[in-house]
Amino acid sequence: MTKFSDLGLSAPLQQALAAKGYENPTPIQAQAIPALLEGRDLCGIAQTGTGKTAAFALPSLDYMANNPKPRPLKGCRMLVLAPTRELASQIAESFTAYGKFMKLSVMTVFGGVPIPRQIRGLAAGVDVLVATPGRLLDLIDQRALTLRDVEIFVLDEADQMLDLGFIHALKRIHNLLPKKRQSLFFSATMPKTISDLGDSFLTNPVKVSVAPPSTTAERVEQQVIFVNQAEKQSLLTLTLRATQIERALVFTRTKHGADRVVKHLVAAGIMANAIHGNKSQPQRERALAEFKSGHAPILVATDIAARGIDVSGISHVFNFELPNVPEQYVHRIGRTARAGATGIAISFVADDERPYLRAIEKLTRAKPSIMPLPANFLDEGARLPKPAKGDERPERPHGQRRPDQRRHDGERPAGAPKRNYGPRKGAPGAHRSAVRKTSGR
Ligand code: AMP
Repeated sequence: MTKFSDLGLSAPLQQALAAKGYENPTPIQAQAIPALLEGRDLCGIAQTGTGKTAAFALPSLDYMANNPKPRPLKGCRMLVLAPTRELASQIAESFTAYGKFMKLSVMTVFGGVPIPRQIRGLAAGVDVLVATPGRLLDLIDQRALTLRDVEIFVLDEADQMLDLGFIHALKRIHNLLPKKRQSLFFSATMPKTISDLGDSFLTNPVKVSVAPPSTTAERVEQQVIFVNQAEKQSLLTLTLRATQIERALVFTRTKHGADRVVKHLVAAGIMANAIHGNKSQPQRERALAEFKSGHAPILVATDIAARGIDVSGISHVFNFELPNVPEQYVHRIGRTARAGATGIAISFVADDERPYLRAIEKLTRAKPSIMPLPANFLDEGARLPKPAKGDERPERPHGQRRPDQRRHDGERPAGAPKRNYGPRKGAPGAHRSAVRKTSGR
């Protein structure tokens, strides 16, 4: 097996690896690092958890250690684009750790936090900038940043970038990068749209691929419990109480769903936090810190917020709802079973989710074990404490409907009194409204 010491990395990096206790490169590191040290472009199919951050950080830092240059004013030598703030922060943390014995400046920029500090931070230039695309462009538009000095460019989690609608931002950023540069492109999946995007960024890239989704899934013990949607909350509370859990990630399909689950867990005396797009940056950071420290070992998350969360010791992943995109299931359960450990993924499947389960089984080529509902589940579930009245109402961030406000999909909101939301028959606009309803909006 290759050892880090065989890869010819410079002394400060070897020292940082020793400090971290890493001896052997992971497969993606062993494949990518030699090519990157030669200055090649790279197209990698790999997801978080494979060690891909070090695969691109180590050779880039090696280049910077061997080619010292002053930091470019209002610029950076290396730009890493990541889809979410959490991932950007984690990547920056890794760079700081690997560059610990170099004179390296690393900075993150992402939205949701005030921009003036970022503008000030960039003024003198940085070595490594880790950014989400939207805020990066804001800073460029405000003339606080230029990309003309970028020598190494990394686009991480390209598939997630496209899911989040960053395609135009990426094309703009691409046009602002110097032609002469080293480019690295990573994605967990590589359908044609993504590989076309990769082709536009890369020149004669080395291609590496590790742990296609189905193999990650093999390391996780997968279980399914069939349960009515309405009983999932009690099932989760009882399962968490009855199971030895180090840390668990619970996935819900919606942000409000995540908040509701947390409120029920907290009412039942289980320390939990939610993390999703409506949470402020300090709220997210606190939730992650409490999760890492074990103070609140249950983190309830939506897919996007959970992407890239890198906390070791996640013993369980719960799918409170199954995702309707099977690849997302693989990403979710990949949060456990990291660094060779095994983990347990438990999915609560209601009747209407069975087609999603079939699609997941087809993709992963694995059949989760079907577990029965716990004995006397219904009796115990009924005795569980509920959140105090009023507490249960989901948070309603700015711009969202009140529960009693009319929904655009024509459904009566949960808990709202029965009433006819449309105009009365024969009233002006009645026909238009009917058409709108049947169009499924
Ligand atoms: P990543 O896929 O970059 O998010 O990395 C997943 C986790 O593996 C992180 O916690 C890394 O610190 C850790 N890691 C990366 N490379 C190695 C290695 N060669 N040996 C042990 N752990 C590693």
